[in-house]
Formats: sequence, structure tokens, C-alpha cells
Amino acid sequence: MNIIEDVKARVYNFGNKTADGNRQMKNLLGGKGANLAEMSALGIPVPPGFTITTEVCTAYNSLGKEAVIDMIKSDVEQSIKTIETSMGTEFGSKENPLLLSVRSGARVSMPGMMDTVLNLGLNDEAVLGLVEKTGNPKFAWDSYRRFIQMYGGVVLGMKPASKDDIDPFEEIMEHLKEKRGISLDTEFTIQDLKDLVYDFKDAVKKRTGHDFPTNPWDQLWGAVIAVFNSWNGDRAVYYRTMNGYPSDWGTAVNVQAMVFGNMGDTSATGVCFTRDAGTGENVFNGEYLMNAQGEDVVSGVRTPQQITKLGSIRWAELAKVDEEERAETYPSLEEVMPELYKELDGIQKKLENHYRDMQDMEFTIQDGKLWILQTRNGKRTGAAMVKIAVDLMNEGLIDDKEALLRIEANKLDELLHPIFDPKALKTANVIAQGLPASPGAATGKIVFFADEANKFKNSILVRIETSPEDLEGMHVAKGILTARGGMTSHAAVVARGMGKCCISGAGALKINYKARTLTVNGHEYHEGDWISLNGSTGNIIEGKVATKEPELSGEFAIIMKLADKYRDMQVRTNADTPNDAKIARSFGAEGIGLTRTEHMFFEIDRIKAMREMILADTVKGRIAALNELLPMQRSDFEGIFEAMQGLPVTIRLLDPPLHEFVPHELATQKELADDMHISLQAVKNKVAELAEFNPMLGHRGCRLGNTYPEITEMQTRAIIEAALNLKERGITSRPEIMVPLVGTLAEFEAQDRIIRDTAEAVFKERNDKIEFSVGTMIEVPRATLMADLIAEKADFFSFGTNDLTQMTFGYSRDDAGKFLPIYIEKGILKADPFEVLDQEGVGQLVKLGTERGRSSKPKLKVGVCGEHGGEPSSVEFFYNSGLDYVSCSPYRVPIARLVAAQAAIKAKY
Ligand code: PEP
Ligand code: MG
Repeated sequence: MNIIEDVKARVYNFGNKTADGNRQMKNLLGGKGANLAEMSALGIPVPPGFTITTEVCTAYNSLGKEAVIDMIKSDVEQSIKTIETSMGTEFGSKENPLLLSVRSGARVSMPGMMDTVLNLGLNDEAVLGLVEKTGNPKFAWDSYRRFIQMYGGVVLGMKPASKDDIDPFEEIMEHLKEKRGISLDTEFTIQDLKDLVYDFKDAVKKRTGHDFPTNPWDQLWGAVIAVFNSWNGDRAVYYRTMNGYPSDWGTAVNVQAMVFGNMGDTSATGVCFTRDAGTGENVFNGEYLMNAQGEDVVSGVRTPQQITKLGSIRWAELAKVDEEERAETYPSLEEVMPELYKELDGIQKKLENHYRDMQDMEFTIQDGKLWILQTRNGKRTGAAMVKIAVDLMNEGLIDDKEALLRIEANKLDELLHPIFDPKALKTANVIAQGLPASPGAATGKIVFFADEANKFKNSILVRIETSPEDLEGMHVAKGILTARGGMTSHAAVVARGMGKCCISGAGALKINYKARTLTVNGHEYHEGDWISLNGSTGNIIEGKVATKEPELSGEFAIIMKLADKYRDMQVRTNADTPNDAKIARSFGAEGIGLTRTEHMFFEIDRIKAMREMILADTVKGRIAALNELLPMQRSDFEGIFEAMQGLPVTIRLLDPPLHEFVPHELATQKELADDMHISLQAVKNKVAELAEFNPMLGHRGCRLGNTYPEITEMQTRAIIEAALNLKERGITSRPEIMVPLVGTLAEFEAQDRIIRDTAEAVFKERNDKIEFSVGTMIEVPRATLMADLIAEKADFFSFGTNDLTQMTFGYSRDDAGKFLPIYIEKGILKADPFEVLDQEGVGQLVKLGTERGRSSKPKLKVGVCGEHGGEPSSVEFFYNSGLDYVSCSPYRVPIARLVAAQAAIKAKY
């Protein structure tokens, strides 16, 4: 500790419209403590209390209990006195006891990970004081038994002995319920509660060998130390490791006067939001219950009532409750306690204006007095997020840059795909979970084979894994579910490109193609059974769940326009068809960064010619087959160029290994043999010859183009002819021909020569020209090291971060699904590197490749077209690495546009 830290206070008071701390002090006071201080200083009525700092927790971890109590004892005693004065009660008093809550609060919220003790200060005498004071013995004794139960569990370690053991206090309660023939806690009589208190204390004595502490000060120190200890509890340590929070942060302890919403008909408790968290509508709303505790509102045991009259009327309409019954049985707080409602309404406005964001607040009314227990920025849906940001900007609370920064990029997904009706989701039966590979909502009947996807009007294609041969079926199906594969598995990449809902890598699924069954946790589903996929969460749901179309609201367009104002990195799309290209343009794509030409060969009428090309024994035979493909490719490119209307289009030459195109099933092999008038054996031989141990590192990419130059020639010809044809129709095209998987300069040079020679030949034939460029993917680590040499020859670079990740980590893209989830669970990896760019490692290669490339060609255009091009943290990294553009699937274009703007704002303002 340095000198400044030595003199820093260890205990910070709040309450009575004053506070020692403020909301900037989250690191020292924790999130909750900082906000309580801020509210108090604003004059909001928060129950008075104090925060013991996170630094004291750190000191406790090295110095131990006694030293730390010594260190803060007099401060704490002083603070308790302040609370006593403000509440008019006395800690430890028999007649008028001050009761306390003791809660943890780290700098970031760690929900449910640490401990809390409520009603502290009660003992056999104080409980009588509470009976006297409230005139409510049931409330007083119930508070006492809850206190012993909580304190026993948290401080005295009275927890279940093993994971299938019952909680020792619950066990006692269950016995009593059985004896009394009742089933609910609320049915306990005053005598029952007294008996419970006696039995609980008895159990503590038996298990710990000590009496339950009756001295309130002993109780307080016990609770404070227990909260400190919970920072190093299993749950908290696991949560920290998972999120990468350092262990030396420590937790603060918030000690606060208890207030009770269950002290009779002048008491209540509730939760409220300054705006609608579902729609973003600027209406104050929330729920409350008379004579209740906070947990009663959220647990659903009782039907909570609405805070505002407007909300109450709207609720009644949905609940089919008529106005008379509503006003009688479910009146709003506004109607029941108009004065207190007015006060609450004033406070919500004040807090929202102060925090300049939608607030989620908890409040309690104790005996006619309103207390605010908590405020925080409220969680909200994607739609609400966009509307609230735009509304706050229009109301002048935030400027346009801030409005953009308020948008959580990934949540925009919700606005871009059909979604499940949130009401229907509430009752959904989730049977398993997989990777949320492509967002959206899909409901349909199970089919197990791609060519049977059109068997039902709405089908869900369920496969162990998908192959390119399944493309058509994937297109027809409403959603795709696979037992294997990661975020860049074929199914995931293709589904995202199509904007189709997909869940991959759902390991719990047992799929039996023969029996056409899907078994999950012992339950069997058959072809034709309804199933629903939530591609945004990875949840697989039994049966049919209602969906609704996304509403692209006006606010969404406003945000996108603003993003374009601040953004200076371009956003392109990965698109293989004119339709994808059109969708992407409607989302604002400024060009195509990757057209994967192989996808064009999988369509039924083309795969045959492709197979003939592969099976041809001679160059002549190959050229003949390629000539069949040429017009098809040419028309593909014409369609794409036309859709892009003069915007740049990067077309990548054939990339995957040839064995992916040949049939592996006997029936299809036979068909092909018949079509080609060759023997089945010849087909089988070729298939066997093409088989590779590790196709991802095999005969693919430019290795194909360099061994079968005819393929590169045909593709180049198709591109150039397409552009010339469009030129004749007055449409400009800007083709950028891209060579995949280059590792050496010579590999690129050989392809470059073929491309340029072919283009020249076509220009001569047609007696016309177009502009085009020839560049390379940078996806083999060696290419990043040799980037200066390669850039001398290549017109542009595009990082293929999928392969670059695969080769840098040495993780096979197709097999990583087996161990990556376990690595992530164990904290060995923080995230799936195929989804979130590994900035530390792979990122170095991106930077290095860019720097080296530009060292020999300063104006070299550099982009990225791997899946990371649409992932927010990665897009920010690419911006900061100086890339000219990112390219991503059409549905991610708005996300990339937003993140590019956010990154520019963060870097420049
Ligand atoms: C890449 O490797 O990042 C890439 C875009 O190419 P593909 O995914 O087709 O291998
Ligand atoms: Mg690649």
C-alpha cells in the first residue's frame, strides 16, 4: 500500500441525503455501495448504512480476522451510531431494535455468487421489542426464524452435508409441516414460528457445539467476515475465473438498516422501471405487492399489481379482468397510495435524468414511508435498447455518439431475425442446448435427411453433422440442428450466410439415421415430431413455439445512419448468390468481401458436371467438363455483379478439396457411373484416391488451382466474361479475383499469371476490357511472415481468419468441437477462437501481415473475410489494426457497421 491508500477511509457512510462516496467509486465501494452513496447524495431516501471497502477485504485476505476487525472497529461503531440516530432505533435494544442487512457487493455485479444476511440484530429479547413495536407477532417471529436460518447457513456453515442432502433448516421446517398437516410456509402459526426458532437454535448447538450468538455485535462481525469469506467461496471463484476477474479485487460489504414491506396494510414492496424494458416505450412501469417482502414479488407466489393506473388497465386487458374487478382486487399503487406514488414517480424521473439511462429500481414502503433499495441500469431487449438510445438522444439527455455507444452490438441480432413470441417461450420445454450458431427462431417437424427437407411445409433438419451436399436441404428447412460441429462448422457458416436459424454441436443429441430417431436424455423423438430452435440462445425446445416477424423500427434505421456518420472502416459482405448480395445491400453492405465459388457447384444441375471434371482422366476430359460449368459460373457472376451495381466484388477461386464433390453413397456413385458410362469400380477408385487424412490441410485452395490450372482458367474466364457482358448492358462491375490459401510467393505468382493471361486472352477475343485486380487471402501463417514479398505482387490482402485460427492454434476446424467446450468450461480458453478472434495470438499475425504488406505497398488494401468479420470485439480489433474493411454474412452487416462506428468514436473522441 502506498501512503495515499493508507489514509483512504475504510468505511463510507450513506443515508439522510448525504454520502461519503459516489458512483465513480465502484472499485472501492463495489457497484451496489457506489450507487447507494450516489442516490443518498441526490436526496433519494435510501435506508441509512455504510460500506466497508473492497480494500478491507483484500487486507482481510492477508491479515486475518482479528487484525481487520481492530482496523475498522471504531469506524463501524461510529457508523452504527449514525444509523441509530437517523432511524430512531438502537442496535441491540430490547424495546426498539435496529435491524441490519449485510450484503456483498463487488465492483461488477456477480449475481448470487456471494452471501447476504438479513434481519441481523434479532435475539430472544429484541424479537419481543419488534412484536411490541409492530403489533405484529407473526411478522416478528417469522423475521427471527429467517434470520437464524440465513445466519446459520452463511456464517455458521449450516449447509447440506452433501449435494443430495437437504438443508438442515428446511428439514426441520418440513418435519413441522408434516406434523401439522400443512404445506406452505405462510400457514405456520405464531406458535409454529416460535417452535422453529427454538429448534433451529438447538440444531445450531448440536452441529457447531456453540450457542447461536445472541450479542448483535458478535452477529455483525460474524456476518461481515462471512461476506469477505464468500469472495473466496467456490461459486465466486468459479464465476471470477469464467469472466477473467482478478481475485485481488475483493468485495465490499454493505451494512444497511432493514426496512420492511410486510409490516401491514401501510407497507408494500415492488420493482419498477423508468421505461418499458421490452419495447423501450417511455412509460414508467412496474409491479408491487401490499404487505409483502421483495422475494414475494419476484417469486410468483402472489399475483403482483401494477404501479401505474395506465399499466394496471393494460394488464387487466391482457388478463381479461374487467374494470370493476381490477379496481377492486388489483388496484395500482397510483390509486391505493397516491401520495407515495407521486413521490416514487418523482424519484424515478430524477434517477433516470441523473444516470441518463433507463433505471431498474427496487423500493419498499414501510409503514407509509418510501425507501429506495437499489437502482441500476435496466436490462432490456434489443428493440428496447435501440428505441431508448434514440429517445434519450432526442430528449437531449445523451448526444449522438453516446447513443451509438449505448447499443450492444450483438443484441441487434434480435432485430434481424424472426423471433419467438416471448410469451410462448415462458412455458417452453427446453430439452437440450447447443451452440447458438446462427440466431433466430425456427419451428418445424423433424427430418433427418437433407433431400427430405421438403417432406413437410416447415421442417427442421436434424443431422449429426452437415456436408456441402446438404445445402439444398438446409435452404428448404426452417432451421438446422446438428449434434457435432462448432461455430465455423459448415452448418454454422452456411446457416449464418442464409440468415437461417441454426444450433450446432448439441452433444446431448443421439441421432439414429436408420431408425429416424433423435434421443435426448432418454426421451425419443421421431421424424415428423415438432421441435423448435432458439438460435440466439442455443436452446432446443420440444414442440411448436409461436414466432413473430421482427419489426425493423424507425429507430433502428436512425442508429444505422448515425453509425455511418462516424464510421471510417468499410463493411462488406460474404455472399455467394445475387439474393444474398441484395439482402446485404439492404443492410448497408458496401461491397462483397468474399464469394465462395465452391458453393455454386453444389447445386443439383452443376454437381454432375463438377464430378465429371474431377473424374476425368485427361486434361482434355477435364476441360470438356469445365466448359459445361463455364456458362453457369458466368451467369452466377453476372447476377452478383448486377446486384452489387458497381460496388467491389471479391471472388475467391475454388477452395475446398475435390473429394468433397464426389459422391460417397453407393446409390449416387452408381448413378454417376451410369451417367458417365464408366464402371462403378472406376468411381469408387477415384473416391478412394481423393480421400485425405486431413482434408483441411490437404489438396485445396491454390494448391488445386496450381495443379489443375484449367479450373483457375475457367473461373477467371467466367468472371471476366460476366463483367464484359454487363458492360455491354451499361452496368459497371468491379471484380477482385482472390487466390486462396497462399503460403509462398511462388504459389501466388503462378495463379496471378494464369489469371492475367486468361483475362488478356478474353479481352482480345472480345476486343474490350474491364478493370480488375488480383489479390490473395492471408490465411496460412507463413503468408503473414512473407507479407512484404507477397504484397509486391498482390493488389490486395484479405485475412481468412478461420483458417488462420485453425493453423495458428493447430485446432482442426472440423474436430475442435470435441474439446473446445471443455477448454472453455475449464477456463483454459476464454472463448471459442473460431468465433471471437484471439487478439493476443492470431491477432499478432493480423497486425504483422498488415504492417509487412504495407511496408512494401503502403496503400495496400487489407480486409478480413473470416467469420470474425462480424463479431463485435474482433471488428473493433480490426479497426484498431488499420484494416480497410471487414466482410461478414449479410445479417451481421448492421452489427459490423455499428461496431466500426463505436470503435472510431472510442479511438477519436
Ligand atoms: C477463412 O479461412 O477465414 C475463410 C474466409 O475461408 P473459408 O472459411 O472458406 O476457409
Ligand atoms: Mg479459408
